[in-house]
Amino acid sequence: KSLVVAIDGPSGSGKSSVSRETARRLHAAYLDTGAMYRAVTLHCLEKGVDFSDAGAVERASRELDLSISTRPDTESVLISGIDVTDAIREPQVSQAVSAVATTLGARSELIRRQRQIIADSHHRIVAEGRDITTVVAPDAEVRILLTASEEARLRRRGDQLGGTQTVEQLKQQVLARDAKDSSVVNFQQAANGVVTVDSSDLDFEQTVAAVLDVVRT
Ligand code: C5P
Repeated sequence: KSLVVAIDGPSGSGKSSVSRETARRLHAAYLDTGAMYRAVTLHCLEKGVDFSDAGAVERASRELDLSISTRPDTESVLISGIDVTDAIREPQVSQAVSAVATTLGARSELIRRQRQIIADSHHRIVAEGRDITTVVAPDAEVRILLTASEEARLRRRGDQLGGTQTVEQLKQQVLARDAKDSSVVNFQQAANGVVTVDSSDLDFEQTVAAVLDVVRT
């Protein structure tokens, strides 16, 4: 039976780890669509593609030989067979990724690939990103907006980065990325029929439980 769980939300909402664990518990596949935007961005950086050239960014997204694991226990992203799982998390990629996300031609190519991955999972998948509930899979059985207060999000991001940057630098970066992303995708408000789960005052286990509650209702 088809079970597509679509989860959107801003960075630092705990979206990736919560979605991955939800997929494990449901014995479903898992798709991190942000990793796909990051892979296109890394490819553009390596090829020296001019981010202000929308045609070139779109072509880069189309030619990209991308393979992303959908097993919740295997985090693996390959470009032309080369492992870029860690490279796509580098700060240079995070800083440039909004340029790809705001290029509509690149978005439609990635949306097409994401729908194909959902079909390949036999519609048994937890897919997370910014536009899954609204654009990629608006007909998903379960649609969730995972939010958290600005304070909680920055605290989690800080934990993830291991404190190499100052809190203020981090805050500026995260808020700037959210602001750019918001210009193309609305992930700040729940669309019709989308259930909001606010993780501000929940720990990891409680957030997973809250998401599973929505799946079961
Ligand atoms: O989730 P993550 O922070 O890794 O996403 C990286 C970037 O990819 C986001 O900042 C956003 O620009 C873009 N993105 C998007 N639509 C998605 C997923 C990610 O535009 N569905």
